Amino acid sequence: MHHIYISALLVECNHFGGIPTDIDSFRRTQYLLGDEILKLTEGTIGGYLDVFKQHAFDIVPLAGIAATACPGGLVQDSAYLQIKANLIDGLTAALKADRLDGVLLALHGSAASESLCDLEGDLLQAVRQVVGEDVPIVATLDLHAHITPQMIEHSDVLVAWETYPHRDAHETGMRGAQAIVDILRGDLKPTMSMGLAPVLVGAINGTTDGNGPFARTMHRAKQLEARPDVYSTSAFLVHPYLDAPQMGGGGLIVTNDDQELADQLARELAEFYWEQRFLLEPELFGVDDAIQFGLANDGPIVIVETADCCGGGAAGDSVQLLPALMALGPDVSSVLPVVDRAAATKCHQAGEGSILTLEIGHQHDPKWGDPIRVEAEVLRLTDGRFTYSGGIWDRCEGNMGPAAVVRVEGVLVCLASFPTYEWCGEQYPALGIDVTQAKFIVAKNPMNYRMAFEHCSQVFMVLDTRGPTPATCRHLPYSQAVRPAFPWDPELDSPVRVIH
Ligand SMILES: [Zn+2]
Repeated sequence: MHHIYISALLVECNHFGGIPTDIDSFRRTQYLLGDEILKLTEGTIGGYLDVFKQHAFDIVPLAGIAATACPGGLVQDSAYLQIKANLIDGLTAALKADRLDGVLLALHGSAASESLCDLEGDLLQAVRQVVGEDVPIVATLDLHAHITPQMIEHSDVLVAWETYPHRDAHETGMRGAQAIVDILRGDLKPTMSMGLAPVLVGAINGTTDGNGPFARTMHRAKQLEARPDVYSTSAFLVHPYLDAPQMGGGGLIVTNDDQELADQLARELAEFYWEQRFLLEPELFGVDDAIQFGLANDGPIVIVETADCCGGGAAGDSVQLLPALMALGPDVSSVLPVVDRAAATKCHQAGEGSILTLEIGHQHDPKWGDPIRVEAEVLRLTDGRFTYSGGIWDRCEGNMGPAAVVRVEGVLVCLASFPTYEWCGEQYPALGIDVTQAKFIVAKNPMNYRMAFEHCSQVFMVLDTRGPTPATCRHLPYSQAVRPAFPWDPELDSPVRVIH
């Protein structure tokens, strides 16, 4: 009988902005302890448990903690230490009871705290220190993970999601669980290598659908996985809004007791990814150009302000587009999401039908702009709750906190109290908004907007605006630790590093 300890700490962080991720950020999304975790059927942990059920005669899952949060600013040290302590305490108890044969962790790979820029590396190291070298540690990751030497050193197998938009958390959970089963049965002696190319790009051209530059990298990785001498492969497009040394994307190879082969294939995959670098930079528009183009074409027109993406850790509180949309007057309708707790609270205090003066925007992460004073009519108030239909949080509840829809000229401003991840536009029906009636829809994410709005719009214009999650990383104030890297150093003699 094998006992496998499972836990999750899944959050993506941003060094350039966003609202700090505190323990309440996890509690709003998912914060489960003990046996509650074993009831999960969806997501990565649902995938783990499905595999364990197939092996119920010799696998017993032990649950630690499952903490996941909407992407945001850095995790507060106190929140990380609390989650880590819960996880390690459970692990220590299992070890003392002589009930620990493996550890399976659902991580993101791009989390950072106030004190640590490699939170997952720290956590994996702490787990390794408790369990020793003989207990296998497998972790599942987002394909936007920042893979570090510490993560490689202190784990036996890492596998990442294969899709972006992310549709395969459950399947990736199954792959991770199968890896630890294979190790415990003696069928896999993992040897792992990461090939890393220093490419820092936004996610606009990073889909795994179709035949774009990252899709090709993923296909190449999966071709390698089909080889009989390769156990598993993962491709990475690093979340570029960390400011950490030696960031990049590429490929991770797991072989069965063949380190040399893992190294060679990881290098080849990262070199292939490096060759795609120019295609990963997007075509961008200024605000005025996007609006003028939109006015000359049938709507709805989707204006993509990816620089303020809650799903990449931004606060979602930008109103950079509001003056231009207001200037179109009351007859041109637009939809603009803005996270602004104070304004939403004021609307709830005033009540539906009220007309009031509000300061909107840039109140959570003020370095990217100033609030705008407007006269607003409160059209609708809600508790901000909605349900995801697909993706990482399929069938889970999202929670914007007290929310309000206000009209400012022709603009419907959707005021939320807390940032939420955007998957398929589930927030809008929950707010009573029919986006198909709008001329302009402002989408604040770099990828999922297509899925959310392709049923009603064929025109997507990506803006070159400033913020903590911009479409191009070129202007972000990184420390020098990230260099050399694309796009600043487009030509390098030997760009790829191999970590094992
Ligand atoms: Zn991701």
